[in-house]
Amino acid sequence: MADNKRVVIVGIPGVGKTTVISRLVQTLQQKGSEVKHVVFGTVMLNKAVKKYGIRRRDELRTLPVHAQRKLQVQAANAIAKMKASVLIVDTHLFIKTKEGYWPGLPFDVLNALTPTNLVLLEASASEILERRMRDKSRYRDALEEPKILRELELARTMFAASAVVTGTPVLTVRNEQGRVKKAAREISTSLGFT
Ligand code: AMP
Ligand code: MG
Repeated sequence: MADNKRVVIVGIPGVGKTTVISRLVQTLQQKGSEVKHVVFGTVMLNKAVKKYGIRRRDELRTLPVHAQRKLQVQAANAIAKMKASVLIVDTHLFIKTKEGYWPGLPFDVLNALTPTNLVLLEASASEILERRMRDKSRYRDALEEPKILRELELARTMFAASAVVTGTPVLTVRNEQGRVKKAAREISTSLGFT
């Protein structure tokens, strides 16, 4: 049934994750579902503000990786306690750090989150590039198509690994330009909402 879902939604920056998730939350609420939407990075930031004096989610990835790792596990444990009919977790498969791409969903984090569904959002490299160029609030994201293609590839690899680790069904959804509603509908249908 469509109840007691813990849906982890991932996708590289610029794929339109926030937009699709907002639409999805709306769709599910219209169908009478009790939905809770949590942004993993915000939970991490709340824990980081006092300790590291940072103020923006985009500053998290500039912290030493061991510090990010601690915050990551703390956030996962906090989210693990959250309850809702449908809990939607907005997060990342990997984070671009100074030391390289670092996993957002390592084994212990996945174990804590106990997802019932994993969703990977994708878009074309040119669409992602355009969105990254338009979004002046973000920084340090790759701005060349070949690099974006490599990130899309890495996302698929890590997504497959997450499926194996959790034993959870995985769904890849394309967020085409101007078709956010369609992407949201694909996800809600996969969750059993018709
Ligand atoms: P967002 O605004 O959703 O793109 O996320 C902002 C930042 O939150 C990311 O760039 C990461 O630094 C951090 N973040 C989000 N999810 C995770 C995760 N699962 N593990 C580690 N860091 C994360
Ligand atoms: Mg976002």
